Amino acid sequence: MTDSSNKKLQGKVAIITGGASGIGEATAHLFAQHGARMVVIADIQDELGHQVAISIGIDKCQYVHCDVSDEDKVKNMVESTVQKHGQLDIMFSNAGIVSGSNQTILELDLSGFDKVIKTNARCMALCVKGSIICTGSVAASQGTQLLTDYCMAKHAMLGLVRSASVQLGQHGIRVNCVSPSMVATPMSCDALGMDAEQVEKISEPTSSLKGVVFNVRDVANAVLFLSSDNSGFVTGLDLKVDGSHLESRHKPQ
Ligand code: NAD
Repeated sequence: MTDSSNKKLQGKVAIITGGASGIGEATAHLFAQHGARMVVIADIQDELGHQVAISIGIDKCQYVHCDVSDEDKVKNMVESTVQKHGQLDIMFSNAGIVSGSNQTILELDLSGFDKVIKTNARCMALCVKGSIICTGSVAASQGTQLLTDYCMAKHAMLGLVRSASVQLGQHGIRVNCVSPSMVATPMSCDALGMDAEQVEKISEPTSSLKGVVFNVRDVANAVLFLSSDNSGFVTGLDLKVDGSHLESRHKPQ
C-alpha cells in the first residue's frame, strides 16, 4: 500500500499514451496509487482502455480514444485535458508497435518501416508536452538481429529525447526516457508468438540479475521516478530498465 506520506504524484494530471495495455496500463495504476489527481489514458483499444479506467476509478482515470499518429487528434486530446483538468504535469509517451515482419536490413519493407516510424518516433514528437517521459527500448542504443525498422525508430526516438531535453530545459521542462529490455506484455507476446511465462523465460538469461522476474511494474516504477520531483534535476536521461542487459554490456574479446 502507498500511504499519503510517500505518494509521489499528489495532485498531478498525467496523460499516458498506450495506457490500455502492458507498460502503459501498469503505469496508469501506479500513478493513481501515487495520488495523481487524473490519469488520462490515450489509446485506440477502446474496450480495454475503458476497462482500465474503471478498474482504477473513473474519478481518477479517464479513457480517451486517440490515435497518436494523428497530429490533430493529439492536439485536441492535450487541449481537452488541460481544459477539463486545469493543468498537464506529466506526458508519458509510451504507445508503440512492432511491425508485422521480423526483418533484417536486407528484408526491410519501407511501408512497414513508415508505419513503425510513424507510431514509435513521429508520434513521440507530437507528444512532447508537459514533463515528458518516452518509452524507448534497449534497441534504442544497440543493434538488433531482426526488427530493423523497430530498432531504427527507437534510435530516432532517443535523438528526439536528447534534443528536446536540451531545447526545453529553458522552460523548466524535463525530457527523459525509459528503455526496457524484453518484458512480457501483449506486444512482446504477440511478436514472439508466446505466452507471458515463455517470454519471461527467454528474457531471463539476457539479464545479469538472476532469480528476478522482469515485470511491467519495474518499468512503471522507473517512469514514476522520472515523473516525480525525486528526479527534479534529471533530464535527457535514457534510463535503462534491463537488469544490465547482456547485449548492452561490453563483451569480452
Ligand atoms: P502493448 O501492446 O501492451 O501496449 C502498447 C499500447 O499502445 C497498446 O494499448 C496499443 O493499443 C497502443 N497503441 C499502439 N498504437 C497506437 C496509436 N497509434 N495510438 C494510440 N495508442 C496506440 O505493448 P508494451 O510492450 O506495453 O509497449 C509499450 C511501449 O514499450 C512501446 O513503445 C514499446 O515499443 C516499448 N517497449 C516494449 C518492450 C517489451 O518487451 N514489451 C521492450 C522495450 C520497449
